[in-house]
Amino acid sequence: MSGDERDQGTTGGSDRGRGGRNDGFDDLLDAIEAGEGYYLRCPNDHGSLPPRRVCPHCGARDLDEHPLPESGTVATHTVVRVPTPQFADDAPYATAVVDFGTVRLTGVVDADPEAVETGMTVGATVGESRTSGERLVRFVPR
Ligand SMILES: [Zn+2]
Repeated sequence: MSGDERDQGTTGGSDRGRGGRNDGFDDLLDAIEAGEGYYLRCPNDHGSLPPRRVCPHCGARDLDEHPLPESGTVATHTVVRVPTPQFADDAPYATAVVDFGTVRLTGVVDADPEAVETGMTVGATVGESRTSGERLVRFVPR
């Protein structure tokens, strides 16, 4: 049973925000909104975010869901002053990559963009773009 049926990436969320299908990502947003955010972990302790069927690091298919930690720390951040049209009314804002231990999430920080710092502790929640109303991951300082 070597299974050559591979995940061809049709469930990959790489075109998120383009108005395309991102149902798996929406599931994650639903879970975070309900306070039940989760991530996937393979037997080798690699973390990844849903939707996935295969570990992106080692190819393991045995992925378990684990609760997302209550808070993480800002690993990198960027202040956006000249946004794309779909975020026109949100600027300026800070986007950050937040480290939750084994996984990282990207989102908008719910704080004065100038106050966002690497190492800052934040929790993940779900908010909406002021411009488009589209749901996105927001980080709230803890
Ligand atoms: Zn793995």
